[in-house]
Amino acid sequence: MHMMERLRKLGERTWILPGSPNTTIVESDEGFIVIDPGIGGNRDRIIENSIKELQGEISAIVLTHGHTDHLAVAQELIKGSKKRIFAHRLCVGLIESLELRFNVVYGGVVGKRFASMPSVILKVTDFIEWNEEIYPGIRAIDLHGHTPGHTGFAIEDDEILVAADSILGEKVLRRFGIPFASDLRSWINSLEKLREYVEDGYKVVPGHGPIAEKKRAIAMIEKNIFTVKKVYDYVYDIISKKGPIDLERLAVLATKELSEAQLSPRQIYLNRTALASVIGWLQEERKIEAIVNDERVMFKAHD
Ligand SMILES: [Zn+2]
Ligand SMILES: [Zn+2]
Repeated sequence: MHMMERLRKLGERTWILPGSPNTTIVESDEGFIVIDPGIGGNRDRIIENSIKELQGEISAIVLTHGHTDHLAVAQELIKGSKKRIFAHRLCVGLIESLELRFNVVYGGVVGKRFASMPSVILKVTDFIEWNEEIYPGIRAIDLHGHTPGHTGFAIEDDEILVAADSILGEKVLRRFGIPFASDLRSWINSLEKLREYVEDGYKVVPGHGPIAEKKRAIAMIEKNIFTVKKVYDYVYDIISKKGPIDLERLAVLATKELSEAQLSPRQIYLNRTALASVIGWLQEERKIEAIVNDERVMFKAHD
C-alpha cells in the first residue's frame, strides 16, 4: 500500500484515507459509512481493505457533492450488495445525470473526452437536508458554493468537519489561482461558516489538501477568502479598464494572470464558470452591466 493511502485514525469513530480527494470513514450504528470514496485505479480496493482492517462492513456511501473525482469509485463499492447512497437534494441531479453535471461544471454539455473524467453516474437513495443528522452524531452542514448542494459533515463527538471542496489546501489554491465554484460569493459564506467550526475546536478535512485545525485552519480559511477577493478585484478592475470585454476573453486573461495551471480549453472553461459567478455578483451590486457589442455579449462598468 502506498504511504499516502494508509488509513489514519482521527477520532473515536473517524478515520481518514488520505488522497485527492481525501476519503473519510465513520463508524455508525449500521456499519461504516464512506464519505467521498474518490477516484482512481485501485481506490475502491484500498477502501475495502481499510474497512476489512477495521473489521466491519460498508453500509453507506455519502457524497459531499456531485463532482466525478469524489464519486467515481462508488460504483465499484456498491457492486453486489444494497448500500445506501446519500447526497444533498441540490446535488442529486449532478450525480444521476452527466448532462446536469457538465452544465454545472462547464456551463453546457461537453464531450466526454473534453471532460477527461470517467462518465460515472449513480442512483442516490437518500436525500440529505441541511442541518439534519444523517446518522446519530453526523450532521449535514450547508457549505454550498463549490456546487449548489455542496454539503459538509460534522462528526460531532469527534469534533471533525468534513469540509470537502468548500476549502482548498494552499498548494491547490496557488496552482489554480481561480478556485472552481459554481458561485464564488456563496463559497465565501461557507468559508465564514467553516471559521466558526474551527473556533469551536473542530478539525477540518478538506477535499484536496492536508487536515488542519486551530491557527493553521484559520490561516487556510483566510488564504481561501483572500484568493476569492483577489479574483473579484481582478475581474472588476479589468472590466473597468479594458471593458467592454466578453467572458471568454476575460477567462483567458484571468487564467494567464492568476493561475499557474496550463492554458488548456478545459481549464479555461472551468475558470469561466467560476468567473461567470463573479460577473453575476458584480451585476447584483450594480457595478457592471451587460451589453451586445462587436457581435458578442460584453461587460462594462456601470455608468
Ligand atoms: Zn469538487
Ligand atoms: Zn474535489
